[in-house]
Amino acid sequence: QIKVVGVGKRFGPFQALSDVNLEIASGEKLVICGPSGSGKSTLIRCMNGIESHDAGTIVVNGVPLDKVKANRDQIRREVGMVFQSFNLFPHMSVLENCLLAPMSVKGMSRQDAKEVAMHFLSRVRIAEQALKYPSQLSGGQQQRVAIARAMCMKPKILLLDEPTSALDPEMVKEVLDTMVGLAQGGMTMVCVTHEMGFAREVADRVIFMDRGSIVEEAPPEEFFGNPRTPRAQDFLAQIL
Ligand code: ATP
Ligand code: MG
Repeated sequence: QIKVVGVGKRFGPFQALSDVNLEIASGEKLVICGPSGSGKSTLIRCMNGIESHDAGTIVVNGVPLDKVKANRDQIRREVGMVFQSFNLFPHMSVLENCLLAPMSVKGMSRQDAKEVAMHFLSRVRIAEQALKYPSQLSGGQQQRVAIARAMCMKPKILLLDEPTSALDPEMVKEVLDTMVGLAQGGMTMVCVTHEMGFAREVADRVIFMDRGSIVEEAPPEEFFGNPRTPRAQDFLAQIL
């Protein structure tokens, strides 16, 4: 469903990604981990075109992510994204945050979009706060809204970039539980996270990145239990 072939990305002289090859099957749950600056965010941002790659090809659901605007627009409709810092619109209520893209991008009526929004807000257990503004919610609640907002577009693929790393420790679990719930549907999920419990519970595969490349790739039990490369061993020793 996502095919990344020989992808490179530089920021000026700095090579953030080099020759990344990765195939993600429909319905697969993939966890990406690795040290700070290894290119994890850059890679998933390239997967939905927020960032453009400058070498290689990325094909999402059969559509190449290239300079053609129609292709990029189609991919954006099918790929949802959740950020570390929630990125909710502060001047809009929770509900309005969830209505915006379905109405403006998908052309849904307000009524239909509202039905979908309330469904997903219930699923993340935040429906009763639909009329509040983001600043009136805790970090964990804001992140659950961000997840619901992404789901309102009914994406085929959901990309999550360290969704729990900006949260206070006591709020991490509620967000992880929400993510585990989503993973039980058939959606494809790609999640940058160092939450080993989550990875063990839901991931089909873990990839480990270092200095812009994928250096290791294994099922979670194998990766966390018995990392093969010294770089992965060092990394795991630090996060444990
Ligand atoms: P972290 O765990 O800290 O989030 P990461 O693995 O997500 O790290 P990236 O954000 O992908 O790392 O960044 C990879 C490298 O590319 C870093 O060295 C970063 O400084 C650089 N980089 C990322 N975005 C930009 C940018 N817009 N301009 C210049 N350099 C950038
Ligand atoms: Mg990052």
